[in-house]
Amino acid sequence: MRLTRYLTALALAATFAPQPAEAQRRIPEPQIPPPSITEYTPRSTLVVPAHPVPRAKFPVVDMHGHPPTLDNPENIRTVLVAMDELNIGVMIQTRGSSGERLTNQIEAVRAAGQTDRFAFFTTLDLRDVGPGSGAQIAAQLEADVAAGAVGIGEIGKGFGLGTMKADGTRLTLDDPELKIVWETAGRLGIPVFIHTGDPAEFFEPLDMENERWLEQSIYPNRQLNDRARFPSFDALMAERDRLIANNPGTTWIIAHLSWYGADLGRLGELFDRYPNTVAEMGAVLYDLGRQPRFAREFFEKYSDRLLFGKDSFQPAEYPYYWRVFETNDEYFDYYRDYHAFWKLYGMGLNDDVLRKIYAQNAVNVIPGLPTAALGN
Ligand SMILES: [Zn+2]
Repeated sequence: MRLTRYLTALALAATFAPQPAEAQRRIPEPQIPPPSITEYTPRSTLVVPAHPVPRAKFPVVDMHGHPPTLDNPENIRTVLVAMDELNIGVMIQTRGSSGERLTNQIEAVRAAGQTDRFAFFTTLDLRDVGPGSGAQIAAQLEADVAAGAVGIGEIGKGFGLGTMKADGTRLTLDDPELKIVWETAGRLGIPVFIHTGDPAEFFEPLDMENERWLEQSIYPNRQLNDRARFPSFDALMAERDRLIANNPGTTWIIAHLSWYGADLGRLGELFDRYPNTVAEMGAVLYDLGRQPRFAREFFEKYSDRLLFGKDSFQPAEYPYYWRVFETNDEYFDYYRDYHAFWKLYGMGLNDDVLRKIYAQNAVNVIPGLPTAALGN
């Protein structure tokens, strides 16, 4: 009896053991010419309840806003109309403006009487860093914060991937010349919003197993697998981690969930290791929506560490986020086919978590954020 059970278990283990990749993909040869990856767009025959969410359940802070430049009443009004429809209480302009480009926007928003609805991050000029650059950048930062900026960012992915120093070498994320800048941010009590790298698959060979093949074929300049030009994904993240570790008195807002959306456990380790970090979830909805149960568990566990941000300002795309976060809907479309060839599922987050990721966490880590438009 015991032996039979053992043999049955062995047989089952063999049946379900992972097969080599080659064997897994072996399918019978199509007898009619197969369509290309762009041609094949099967319609879903699944009929299930659907609950679109055009308006977020609670007021939202979009902490990764890339609206048009807000230096004139027309742009401000256009963005406000969309914000009101979507229930975005506050939009943080993270387009990266400093000096006059920043103050022009702050003044225009003030003149329009909309200081409760917009906040501004400043950016850093990281080109040609050399001896003395850090102090200069820190001085500009002080001026921008005095003018009304409430954070730094978005620091773009060029920092780490392409930005060069005056001496012609790559500016590493943990370059000591910049330490004074991060310390200044810490002293001023403003967070640093930093985008490092890109999806890990962009760093891998573009072969038939690359999950982001389509996007990289449409935009070949997104490929980062040339190790002569770019560090590996892991090396870049290690550099970023040293930056965070070296500056424990600075609050870091990690953009795009650190591109760990497909490996939330790794993001959890980052949070556990560095209490001075939170993460923003822009443009990675496709990863959350394909693992709604584990993502919900993760969002519940780290509910104080996650901030809503959208990145690209496309009003029609925000409701996809609300639907993934707020409903238990199944198998619905994502808005950008070349990011993800799969469907999304709702995470069904509870109100407590929703309130935190939509606004409360942003209020906590961005002391200068206006809050009057975030009441219910
Ligand atoms: Zn951005």
